[in-house]
Amino acid sequence: MLITIASGKGGTGKTTIAVNLALIIKEMLPVMLLDCDVEEPNAHLFLQPSFTQHRGVFTTVPKVDETKCDGCGRCSSFCAYGAIAIVEKQPIIFPELCHSCGGCSLVCPTEAITEIPRKIGSVETGAGKGIQITKGSLAIGSPLAPVVVNAVRDTAPANHRGRVVIIDASPGTSCSVVAAVQNTDFCLLVTEPTPFGLHDLALAVELATKLQLPYGVVINRSGLGDSGVYDYCSEARIPILMEIPFDTRYASCYAKGGLLVEAFPDLKEQFHNLWDRIRDRLASDKPPYAWG
Ligand code: SF4
Ligand code: SF4
Repeated sequence: MLITIASGKGGTGKTTIAVNLALIIKEMLPVMLLDCDVEEPNAHLFLQPSFTQHRGVFTTVPKVDETKCDGCGRCSSFCAYGAIAIVEKQPIIFPELCHSCGGCSLVCPTEAITEIPRKIGSVETGAGKGIQITKGSLAIGSPLAPVVVNAVRDTAPANHRGRVVIIDASPGTSCSVVAAVQNTDFCLLVTEPTPFGLHDLALAVELATKLQLPYGVVINRSGLGDSGVYDYCSEARIPILMEIPFDTRYASCYAKGGLLVEAFPDLKEQFHNLWDRIRDRLASDKPPYAWG
């Protein structure tokens, strides 16, 4: 079973939900946590894993053989990302803008362009607190986060039967979030009860709906803000599966890299209930996002 934890905006406590839910499920089933928040992975700060395998993630960028190039400029005209400029009939490559489509080498009439590997990130795997974890890290400035997300997802076994894989997605609704969320079994949308939280929750709901994924909402820091998120969920018949009240003790626990389910027995119970509700939903034969 693949469960993605997503949120329309950063700072909602998405990773807190991911690691604490993983710890609860671990009591019953093997769990793997994939940290696909590749621009800012931080699940490892809570699980304190020992990473035993490290590998680079590579794509290709063009390299121009100046002895073959006649400066025609077709490569630059073709590149939709502005990764090639022609200066005094010489192509200049900007690797950090390249999306590795390979098109420039195809349009070059003199076969002056070859493709060379470029490291755009890394993937580390290990285990901590009885949970297998994979952490993806995107190289600073690379636009290819989805490639690293896919490399992280590739570390999960193809057959998930009898195990739960939790994916911690990046905040927002970008391509890297789509890469993390698509083809999963359930999407948990974490938000907070504020106007910003509502705005970004609506975007996340739109994404999950387009991908035809079952989803539910977790409200973090409830008691703050206003009723907008509750009204929205009620009108759209979106289930609120759990609420974590705003409490400075929880914030302090999080800031120290602590785990809520270890520090607060009442929250442990709530995370158990959350898992029960997700599992029951997936066991039902209702269409993707119908809860009623
Ligand atoms: S591979 Fe594609 S994105 Fe990269 S420079 Fe060539 S045309 Fe541009
Ligand atoms: S398309 Fe080929 S020949 Fe033309 S400028 Fe680019 S590298 Fe040079």
